[in-house]
Amino acid sequence: MITVNSPFENIFSSCLWVQYNHGGVFIFGVVFFIYGMLFGSFYNVVIYRIPLDMSIAKGRSMCPSCSTSLRAIDLVPLFSWIFLGRRCRYCKSEISLRYPLIEIATGGLFLLSYLVFGPSLEALFYISLWSMLLITAMIDYDHMIISDAVLLFFTVLGIALNLFIGFDYKSHILGGIAGFSFYLLIYVAAKAIYKKEAFGFGDVMLIGAIGLLLGLRDTVLTSILSFYVALFVILGLRLLGKKISVKEEVPFGPYICISAFIVSLWGDNLVELYFRIFSM
Ligand SMILES: [Zn+2]
Repeated sequence: MITVNSPFENIFSSCLWVQYNHGGVFIFGVVFFIYGMLFGSFYNVVIYRIPLDMSIAKGRSMCPSCSTSLRAIDLVPLFSWIFLGRRCRYCKSEISLRYPLIEIATGGLFLLSYLVFGPSLEALFYISLWSMLLITAMIDYDHMIISDAVLLFFTVLGIALNLFIGFDYKSHILGGIAGFSFYLLIYVAAKAIYKKEAFGFGDVMLIGAIGLLLGLRDTVLTSILSFYVALFVILGLRLLGKKISVKEEVPFGPYICISAFIVSLWGDNLVELYFRIFSM
């Protein structure tokens, strides 16, 4: 069971009723979830537009099929999708299940950060980190591109939040350097062996960004875990009958993102597990 922890260390410490009033926790939880869904709706736009080099600030949202500009009522997270019968109001073409799923996932991430970290700057930091991971993973999954603009934005935001929270900056600088150079080594080696980019340079930048945000230990954990997650997913897909050849290009970014997410929540447990296994 996740509990709201460190109530005295957050910026809302004057509003202690939030921690001790379950109704308050519930209301805040709902608010975080709804905010998350609204952000998720925007992340859908970011995921769609960034790889196409479209502005994310200018231009109204439109249906990808008929290009009709959508009105506010067509853009209410989740509800529009349900009440429009999963179809565009104008051309009736089907709207991918992915859009509401991203909205729910983002809502879930916001809620999770609140439940784990309370209404605090730390919660904002993890919202920012997880948002970067979600957007990066989806763009990489779609286009095999890792957006440096997305990485830059969330890395600067994350570092700024960390400055306020207080963090061991040496560990984070080392994390950035270690992650970047470890993956750079793999990148150069893979390029030499396969004579092409088997491993994107975007992945190198991604792990560098994660290093700056999570610090040295968690970056090492993420780097190692990413290969296990990749193995696990590829074996899982094989078992389900989907063939993926080793030579086929698969985006690696999503595995790094999944690993960083796991490590950001359960890093301590992973270290404990490791020592338990290897001290037997
Ligand atoms: Zn349409």
